[in-house]
Amino acid sequence: MPGQRGLFIPGPTNVPQAVRLAMDISMEDQRAPDLPSFTLPLFADVKKVFKTDTAQVFLFPASGTGGWEAAMTNTLSPGDKVLIARFGQFSLLWADMCTRMGLEVDVVDVPWGEGVPVEIFAEKLKADKAHAYKAVLVTHNETATGVTSDVAGVRKAMDDAHHPALLFVDAVSSLASIDFHMDEWKVDICVSGSQKGFMMPAGLAILAVSEKALAARKAAGMRRCYFDFEDMMKTNKDGFFPYTPPLHMLRALRAATDLLLSEGLENVFARHHRLAEGVRQAVSAWGLRLCAAAPKWHSDTVSAILLPEGFDSAALVRHAYTKYHMSLGMGLNKVAGKVFRIGHLGDLNEIMCLQALAGAEMAMRDLGVPVTAGSGVGAAIEYYRGATASSALKN
Ligand code: PLP
Repeated sequence: MPGQRGLFIPGPTNVPQAVRLAMDISMEDQRAPDLPSFTLPLFADVKKVFKTDTAQVFLFPASGTGGWEAAMTNTLSPGDKVLIARFGQFSLLWADMCTRMGLEVDVVDVPWGEGVPVEIFAEKLKADKAHAYKAVLVTHNETATGVTSDVAGVRKAMDDAHHPALLFVDAVSSLASIDFHMDEWKVDICVSGSQKGFMMPAGLAILAVSEKALAARKAAGMRRCYFDFEDMMKTNKDGFFPYTPPLHMLRALRAATDLLLSEGLENVFARHHRLAEGVRQAVSAWGLRLCAAAPKWHSDTVSAILLPEGFDSAALVRHAYTKYHMSLGMGLNKVAGKVFRIGHLGDLNEIMCLQALAGAEMAMRDLGVPVTAGSGVGAAIEYYRGATASSALKN
């Protein structure tokens, strides 16, 4: 089919031309004497995206899942207790990894559509006088349900309980799209990946690690090798890597970081909020509901949209793919067949969101979902016109 396939999944996201071209390079010498003049400023600028002055950035050739593994193995010992809430496929997989790695996992199950239950965490942390919890794990943005959680709230609960556990945050589908404050929230490890807010192909796990988490590695008894922070630190300090680094990906990261910083992080967050709000206006104009159970959980990077009873969202996603040449996100696990997702993050603007909404609307009408033609698109158009006009006036 002619034309470009629409990619409206919550990662991998569209790769901007500047990032693609940055990767189109001849192979480079990973031991070149001038490599540090490229890598050291890159490490420093990626820290800005995490809003940290004090943490250290690690770039592993891996996806976000490898980033989780790096976080756990470098800081914890077998049998250590961790606290995590499970409310979607990605928080579920993280909890599962912890169990498989031999940690004692206290899982708080929450209805899918809600986020981290800060009050329950606060009670558990207060009750844990012996400080058995060694880490508290927060999925900042649950990509399966389109739910954003309150990391600052969890930090406050930990501080109120004077709890010394490490705070780990999965920001795979939020970093560089939804505001994140590594230092202010005293996050110990933030795990992200290249294929979402960074607008790159999958293949880099991008981590920021606090001094406290780095210190914890000295007593951490879990086995680790490839993901050992120690090996990275020894070589990264001079701008090199303990193995052959994926230099084309680092060049892409340079270009992506430049794009983010030149747009301005606050503008990036405002754009994501505006795009997401237009999608939410469309969903209510369709007469449908989000999986996110309340506005406080609304994600600015992905909307999971519940189809009415009797309709199969997997069939809808398949239909949109084959008939309209566009990818929408599938429902995963407990919400499989029930929700379809629109990813609205990365290199995206209003017109691209309207394309996603129009395609979803056509596919829903084809399958008999009772939505009025143009209703969602119309609502988003009017919202975007207003929101874009007010931001243009401000500039
Ligand atoms: N965490 C979240 C919130 C995600 O959305 C994903 C992937 O979509 C992951 C973790 C796993 O990341 P990866 O697929 O890059 O290993």
